[in-house]
Amino acid sequence: MNSYVASVIEYVKQRHANEPEFVQTVEEVLSSISPVIDAHPEYEKADLLKRMVEPERMFTFRVVWCDDAGQWHTNIGYRCQFNGAIGPYKGGLRFQKNVYPGIIKFLGFEQTFKNSLTGLPIGGGKGGSDFDPAGKSEAEIMRFCQSFMTALYRYIGPDIDVPAGDMGVGGREIGYLFGQYRRLKGVWENGVLTGKGFSYGGSLTRPEATGYGAMYYLQEVLKHEGEDIKGKTIACAGFGNVTWGICKKANHLGAKVVTLSGPDGYIYDPDGVSSSQEKIDYLVTMRNSGRNRVQDYADKFGVEFHPGEKPWGVKVDVIMPSAMQNDVHMEHAKQIAANGIKYYIEVANMPTTNDALQFLREQPGMIVAPSKAVNAGGVGVSALEMSQNSERLVWTAEEVDAQLRKMMENIHRVSVEAAEEYGLGYDLVSGANIAGFKKVAEAMMEQGCF
Ligand code: GLU
Repeated sequence: MNSYVASVIEYVKQRHANEPEFVQTVEEVLSSISPVIDAHPEYEKADLLKRMVEPERMFTFRVVWCDDAGQWHTNIGYRCQFNGAIGPYKGGLRFQKNVYPGIIKFLGFEQTFKNSLTGLPIGGGKGGSDFDPAGKSEAEIMRFCQSFMTALYRYIGPDIDVPAGDMGVGGREIGYLFGQYRRLKGVWENGVLTGKGFSYGGSLTRPEATGYGAMYYLQEVLKHEGEDIKGKTIACAGFGNVTWGICKKANHLGAKVVTLSGPDGYIYDPDGVSSSQEKIDYLVTMRNSGRNRVQDYADKFGVEFHPGEKPWGVKVDVIMPSAMQNDVHMEHAKQIAANGIKYYIEVANMPTTNDALQFLREQPGMIVAPSKAVNAGGVGVSALEMSQNSERLVWTAEEVDAQLRKMMENIHRVSVEAAEEYGLGYDLVSGANIAGFKKVAEAMMEQGCF
């Protein structure tokens, strides 16, 4: 590895020892781009990487809210404006009780390269709160969102920073956040948030975009291997918005999603979760119930439920970890390899531990695709939502879908080309990191050192 790259990784390890997720993602990205640094000594001269691993700005804020029983609560809000070299900061808000600076920073760093890969002018940002939405009433969620936006609204804007949803933040939360922004500022700036409802500036296909995009990307990979998506079996995780989108598209394309997971275990449905509209709709019912249990699916449709287990031991054609970070560990990776699975397509942000990812990438014949490419369709369609908002136009679902498909083909193609340029062969992980990095690096260099 390039010695400058190694020194920056070491620096991040020391400085962020208490933020393992951030260290993990920096290590993953920087080791991939090592050959680019070899080829561009001017990057080391400008100490570009040290600047890239430091957010431009990251702040916390107090979020105070009152529950239905009249009890007051204080949570911490975060926004990390990681890199604005290629466009306004853009990235979701995560409301989950495990949120702390290391999670927000890792997601903001990933987002910078992901957003670059979309080919659209969006910088990287992320935010959220350690607020736990589980079991909260509608009114509590609304009060929390209003308080959150009251603290954040001065620091965002359509040309500054455009938040969106992530775990725990869906259409409902975006609505409350947007309403409060409008109330405070007294302006209709619908480009300030994405993932909005269709009645007030949301884009058609945004809810499906991450899952659809992942399936379009998978199609590109299969095309490269001379295979067809029809009839392929897929193991997914979670039962949230992304997995729902994958199931919907799998249904259109004749592929079969056979597993879902939750904190309680996983279900195996050999006929396919994606096989009927009723089953696909039930994912939304489970999500809205707030019970956070996948066993409900097994009870309703009479399929196997495996308590306390993850679905990575199931024999399928394609693995798509689509739930959360660090979901696939070394023991699972070994199982996946032993099952002879060829396609390992990451969907959630950093779903694989670094050692497991390394192991999978070394398996002969196995194709590994990285989440920052595979899930980029979500934020990509957010950028299309921003375009529609600034043009004061509404595109049809077909127009958005055609753009999304083109975007995913393009992300796959530029990743392949970037890896080939550095003699790495069909290496989608390195290719995505290199392609995402190149544009941000170039923009930063051209804008001078700051
Ligand atoms: N949270 C999603 C992501 O990780 C969406 C972000 C956005 O639409 O800005 O890409």
